[in-house]
Amino acid sequence: MSAPLDIHMFPCFWDNYGFLIHSPVTGETACIDTPEPDKIILALEGKDWQLSEIWNTHHHPDHAGGNMELKNLYGAKVRGCGADKSRIPGLDIELADGDSFMFAGHKVHIMETPGHTIGHIIYYIPTMKTAFVGDTVFALGCGRLFEGTPEQMYESIGKIAALPDDTKLYCAHEYTLSNGKFALTVEPDNQDLINYMEEAKARRDQNLPTVPTSVAAEKKANPFFRAATAKQLGKIRKAKDNF
Ligand SMILES: [Zn+2]
Repeated sequence: MSAPLDIHMFPCFWDNYGFLIHSPVTGETACIDTPEPDKIILALEGKDWQLSEIWNTHHHPDHAGGNMELKNLYGAKVRGCGADKSRIPGLDIELADGDSFMFAGHKVHIMETPGHTIGHIIYYIPTMKTAFVGDTVFALGCGRLFEGTPEQMYESIGKIAALPDDTKLYCAHEYTLSNGKFALTVEPDNQDLINYMEEAKARRDQNLPTVPTSVAAEKKANPFFRAATAKQLGKIRKAKDNF
């Protein structure tokens, strides 16, 4: 059993989260996406960590826009979805569904979760009961379907829902309160959702994050996890876009 990894989370831009994952044993450090390089550099310096890897979930500028600056500064290697190699700056290691790699003695599993973009992947670390899910799912929500279809998103969410209930989901944005407001229009009588929202409001009132969430919590309250079919998911997504 490898020593646990430290996860450090901090806000970037208006509502993005930056994440660092670090091994106190080997000193290896990865950042998940590169939303705001200045904030990531500050976080690294604050912890006295050296960046060794960048793990991209997808190509959007608020996720991969800082790749080159951080790669040049630290010599970090960039991992990302091979299907999107033309859109991920500085990509060194191309990943695909079912791939895995070792990070400081922990196995990291790659799952392709298209929908928000075609080349979207998530990083799942079973030994840490943790998944970095990018913009595929959010607390009480899911990513906009910029490139993929409802069928793809339905399948992608199904993969995440199939992870163990106590898996922590690190979503890339703090959208919970606005997602929850919409979710309550879909299932106004869902007591788990009502309780979830009360807790989320209390946390936001104290300026605390609502991320990470868990597979169990989303299965009970997230309308996109609860959609019975891809068609239903598509309808809910469209309603959310117009909400
Ligand atoms: Zn995105």
